[in-house]
This record gives sequence, structure tokens and C-alpha cells, in this order.
Amino acid sequence: MNKGEDRFKKIIAHCKEYGFIFPSSEIYDGLSAVYDYGQNGAELKNNIKDYWWRSMVQYHENIVGLDAAIFMHPTVWKASGHVDAFNDPLIDNKDSKKRYRADVLIEDHIAKLEEKINKEVQKAAKRFGDTFDEKMFRETNPRVQANIQKINDINVRFVPAMENGHLNDLKALIEELEIACPVSGSRNWTDVRQFNLMFSTKMGSASDGASLVYLRPETAQGIFVNYLNVQKTGRMKLPFGIAQIGKAFRNEIVARQFIFRMREFEQMEMQYFVKPGLEKEWFEYWKEERMRWHLALGIPKEMFRIHDHDKLAHYANAAVDIEFDFPFGFKEIEGIHSRTDFDLGAHQKFSGKKLQYFDPDTNESYTPYVVETSIGLDRMFLAVISCAFTEEKLEDGSERVVMNIPPALAPTKIAVLPLMKKDGLPEKGRELFDRLKYDFLCQYEDKDAIGRRYRRQDAIGTPYCITIDHQTLEDNTVTIRERDSMQQERIPAENVSKVVSARISFKPK
Ligand code: ATP
Repeated sequence: MNKGEDRFKKIIAHCKEYGFIFPSSEIYDGLSAVYDYGQNGAELKNNIKDYWWRSMVQYHENIVGLDAAIFMHPTVWKASGHVDAFNDPLIDNKDSKKRYRADVLIEDHIAKLEEKINKEVQKAAKRFGDTFDEKMFRETNPRVQANIQKINDINVRFVPAMENGHLNDLKALIEELEIACPVSGSRNWTDVRQFNLMFSTKMGSASDGASLVYLRPETAQGIFVNYLNVQKTGRMKLPFGIAQIGKAFRNEIVARQFIFRMREFEQMEMQYFVKPGLEKEWFEYWKEERMRWHLALGIPKEMFRIHDHDKLAHYANAAVDIEFDFPFGFKEIEGIHSRTDFDLGAHQKFSGKKLQYFDPDTNESYTPYVVETSIGLDRMFLAVISCAFTEEKLEDGSERVVMNIPPALAPTKIAVLPLMKKDGLPEKGRELFDRLKYDFLCQYEDKDAIGRRYRRQDAIGTPYCITIDHQTLEDNTVTIRERDSMQQERIPAENVSKVVSARISFKPK
């Protein structure tokens, strides 16, 4: 097992042991790629949602929220292209009986070649030190050049095969690249087939003539079909945005990697409606803005990278992914897409209703263009916990597992811990807890040695522990212990709320 896999296993086990994430219906042995968020997970998830919602809706006066239903008229999915084109190419290995996405097998092969290039570059950077010219090295080193050539040769065939749904070409590429099944190691593949990812169900009873409806595979369409409702009732002027957080469902072919790829998941999407012609400018703006949002949490910059799409979706004229360095490597956490007027245009065509904007500055009507930011809430959750999970050896030789969750997102903000369960300390602690609970989610604990209680709070990422001791009874001061440094300081009990609020706030200082 490599280091990343080992760490990932520990993170999954930790999430279960400390009430962050449980497999769905666990007493029935779980349901594949569906998970439940436990007491700490639900809090962390809510805090991530809150951070996103505030950044979008509260901090931008021209972005408003929406909460559309999961079920939508079936024609929505015809207009959006999902009925005809929301397919993944699947392939089975005949020996292991494992199913894969053909495009992912090829992408993983490309990623391995990229990894080889990066290793060469890193080695050379070490050898040459300050004088290293990376651009020149990439352009002239024969081994790097050979691998770049290989990647280009693959893409020349891979991109059109995906765009045109040429499944035979994908199969031919997999065979020529000698891609083997990671489980059986064999190259005994079936043909590639298309598989639609939407879940469907029936609405109404069969005798009524039940109609086929879909569980939405993305939240975006709820925004598009409400574009005019919001624009008119909110008297919105371009550019303006509509933000939404909600469940989405995809019958993923390969659903492994914990909450990274689930069949039921949550998205946080924002569609920004702009004047046609300005979409590239706004695309650049949102690309930078979204990176800033991620970095404001204090997650190191090296954990992110931008991936430009080689293959654009049928609706886009520009697209990037923000990728995060998950324990299993760099993968998409958020997509930023310039969707043109594809969606509004398609809904106008299919519904026969005008979805336009009357521009009071130019006295003309037109269909706005859209720049979308779309982040998976569960992937953001996974990014936060995988970055936070830390095993530490302390100076006294003991070990602790601490979740360095950004304080603003931590499930519990404060633990109130009387040093001993006697001498009036619990009463004093309760009194403080009862005041603080109106400002933050707090925990009160008076059982076990204080060291063990600190460890339990570290393991769920509580940023501040307040200890009540005998001195508290004399001068009403308490100690506040900071999770990451374990430093303690004495402060007046009445200042706790103010001190913690200031430390966890996103407000610019
Ligand atoms: P992928 O290529 O990983 O399947 P995608 O490009 O299909 O993702 P989008 O359709 O752009 O994803 O969806 C926007 C966001 O929704 C993604 O960036 C991701 O964070 C999240 N997302 C998509 N599918 C899933 C899933 N099955 N489970 C969890 N999150 C998902």
C-alpha cells in the first residue's frame, strides 16, 4: 500500500470513528456510493455551505439565492442535452469482471505520463538549483519531449473520439496503449458502450398514466428555468448571479474513492448571467475569485492546480477545473464553465417561452450568456478533512490525531472543560456553556482526565478548549487552549465569546 492509500484509509476510518461519515444503511451492509453524514459531519457540511452561501449571496449584492425542486419537467432534460448526451463510455474487464469508464482509463494513462515528466523536472531542478530554467528544460530534454509527444498523440485521437462518441476508437486506444485492468492485470476488455447517468422514476400512479421523471443530475437547470422569474421579481440588472445548493444524482459507473464520487451528492452552483461578448472577461474573473475563496481557508496553495479542458462540453466555449491534491492524487473539485447562451437558448426553443433580457442601456433584448461555478460540496468536505487529518508525535513522546480544520468550518467551536468534577467547577462551567451556546456550537465535558478530553476535541477539530479551574472561582478567568499549537493563555471568562468570534471570523481585518 502506498503512503497516499494508507493515509486515505486512516481518514475514512477516522471519519467513521468520530461521527463524520457513515456508510448509508450500514446495518444492511451499506449501499454502494451512498453515505450519511454523522453528528460532526453534518455540522462541518453546514459550515462549508454557509461559507459558500455567504461568499456568494451575502458578499455580492448582485447574486441572489434559489432553492429549486429536485424533480423537474422531463423536457428540461431533453432541452439541456442530458437525455441524449449525459453518457459515460463504459468498458468491462472480462477477467476481473470490474467495470471502468473508458475515458478515465485513458486519462489515468495520460496522468502517469505527466507524472514521469514532472519527476524529470523535479530531479533537474534539484540538480541545477537556482540556475534552473524549467521552460527551457521542458522544451529540450529528450525524455520529457518524448513523453509530451506521447500525450499529444493520444489526445489527437482521444478528444475527437469523446466529442463524437466514437466508442470503437476509445477501445482501439485502450488496446494500443496496452492499458491493463488494475485488478486482474489483464487486457481482456469488452467493447465500449454508452451508459446514461440519470436516475429515472415514475411520477403519479400507473393508472393515471404515470410519467417518467428524472432525479436531477445537476442543480444548474433549476436556475436556468427560473432565470426570468428571478430577474423580473428581483429587478435584477446584468451582470447578476443566481446561487443554489442542493442534491444531485448520478448513476456513476465507477463509484469508488469514498465521498469523492457518489451516486447521491450535493452541489453548490452559481450561474452568472452576463451580456454576450463579456463572458470571457467574467470567466477569468470567476476563475480567480474561486481560487481566492479556496485559499482564504488557509489551505496551502500547492494543494490546488488549474486544469484547462482539452475537451469542451457541448454547452461550453471555455472551461477549467480547479483540482485538489486528494490522498489519491489531483482530481477535480470545482468546474468553472463559460456556458454561452446554450441553456437559455435551448429552454426557449423547447418551451416556446422567451427567456431574454431587456437592456435599458441599449434598448435591445437579448439572451444572456452564462458563466457557471460548480463545486461539489462533498468533494470540498473531503478536501477539508484530508488536508486537516494530522498524526503528531508530541515532545513528551505521546501521539495525537488532530483535525486542523479551518476554525471557521470546525463542527464545534468551543469545548468547555471543568478541570475537575467537584468544588463548584462543573457549575461554573455550565454557566459559561449556557452563555456561549447562543454564539457558537459548544460542547460541555467533565468526565475523564483533562488530557483525554483535549485529545477527543483535537480528533473532531474543535479549535478552542476553555478550562475552568480553581483560579476561575477566585478571579473569573479561564484558560483558552488553541488546538494546533496547544498554547494556553488566561483570559477573563466574559471575553471568551469576543476572542473566539474575532479568531474565527472571515471579516477583513
Ligand atoms: P467528474 O469528471 O469527476 O465526473 P464532472 O466534470 O462530471 O466530474 P460536473 O458535472 O462539472 O462534474 O459537476 C460539478 C461538480 O460536482 C464537480 O466539480 C464535482 O465537485 C461535483 N461532482 C460531480 N459528480 C460527483 C459525484 N458523483 N460525487 C460527488 N461530487 C460530484
